Amino acid sequence: MRKIECDVLIIGGGCAGLSLAYEYAQMKKAGLSVCILEKRENYHDDKTWCFWLDHQQDFSHRDIILNSWKAWRFSSKEQSYIHRSEHFAYCHIASLAFYKKTTQAIEDDPRQTLVLGQVVSKIEKNGKYFNVEGPNLSARATHVIDTRAYEPDELIQYTQIFQGFSGVEIETEDDFFDSDLVGLMDDIKGNGKICQFRYLLPFTKRHALIELTSFSNAYYPPSDLDVSLQYYLDSLKVSYKIIREEQGVLPMGINHPPRSEDGIILGGMKNDNLKPSSGYGFLRSQIWAKLIVTKFCNDTLDIKLGKAGHYIPDFFDHTFLRVLDNNIDLAEDIFMSIGKNMRPDSFAKFMSDKAQVHDFMRLIAAVPKQPFIKAVLS
Ligand SMILES: Cc1cc2nc3c(=O)[nH]c(=O)nc-3n(C[C@H](O)[C@H](O)[C@H](O)COP(=O)(O)OP(=O)(O)OC[C@H]3O[C@@H](n4cnc5c(N)ncnc54)[C@H](O)[C@@H]3O)c2cc1C
Repeated sequence: MRKIECDVLIIGGGCAGLSLAYEYAQMKKAGLSVCILEKRENYHDDKTWCFWLDHQQDFSHRDIILNSWKAWRFSSKEQSYIHRSEHFAYCHIASLAFYKKTTQAIEDDPRQTLVLGQVVSKIEKNGKYFNVEGPNLSARATHVIDTRAYEPDELIQYTQIFQGFSGVEIETEDDFFDSDLVGLMDDIKGNGKICQFRYLLPFTKRHALIELTSFSNAYYPPSDLDVSLQYYLDSLKVSYKIIREEQGVLPMGINHPPRSEDGIILGGMKNDNLKPSSGYGFLRSQIWAKLIVTKFCNDTLDIKLGKAGHYIPDFFDHTFLRVLDNNIDLAEDIFMSIGKNMRPDSFAKFMSDKAQVHDFMRLIAAVPKQPFIKAVLS
């Protein structure tokens, strides 16, 4: 039985938990002891994190950006539109590089401990303290920050739109990819219930991640996409080998259940760190981590602090999702209109929560009007 006593207990050492621990490691003056409990026994390269970044943004992990692109494409059977951005780059961080960097920072910080292989099963408030338990664990802390995701059955209940994806990282024998251009939404098509497209991240001319992605109002396991993915891979006129696989189902828009005011601080998807309209969460977790860690210094942790999103972007995201939810058959039209009509920098700002009123106006001007007016009024 492992016994732990600390000031702050972070449950979950994934993107949000490690981002927070990393930011805290940079803040040498604060004196709180922090323990991160993670259920995994070890880390492996399970995610390809991408996000839009402008040159000036305060961002702690520029040193591990592996690739970045200034151009991305939307395409359907009939049309193709390419966005080239002046100010934003679409950046890629390999999850393993992030895990290595952040866990090293924790190891170098005498105030922090990362404990792997600990599955938290119970959190209870007892007076001033939280008692946290798992099969081999008994911990006591003044603050608890919970970054665990919703359980799958909760997700099915609370999610507005599901984003499922299944992909492979491949190496080809010959030059094959245009390494300057991301296929953000390639071959977009809808069948009335599902909108499907391909995502292509060309790391080099011979190395890329290819993912099949679907948006739908019902949950489908990502393995449902495997046949179509294989069909596409078989159609490639090049020899390749698969070096890694990546799958997932992300919630786009979560209708949170009511929560008890027990004082637990939430992170990750329970704190809307996943952007509703895209399911992207890496950048929001960085913003959230910086917000929370500033409170560590003067011990003003409070459950109402630390929303990574903003009210106006979230309003637009939810409106956008309502449009998709009611008109999934129009998805191809909507995304191709964005590709055609929206300025690349406005699009990148929207995707990275930096959009201002005029960028939202551009989004509204870019897409078919009627479903949006209906969604705003509903
Ligand atoms: C394959 C994949 C690719 C993605 N790509 C992108 C992308 O390109 N760009 C982007 O912005 N976002 C992306 N996302 C979305 C989002 O950024 C990630 O899901 C991100 O990891 C979310 O961070 P998190 O900390 O909320 O969750 P996680 O990173 O999943 O961390 C939660 C942690 O809690 C641990 N845990 C769970 N239960 C317990 C328990 N009972 N006790 C202890 N620990 C527990 C888990 O093991 C996990 O490590 C992707 C998601 C996936 C799945």
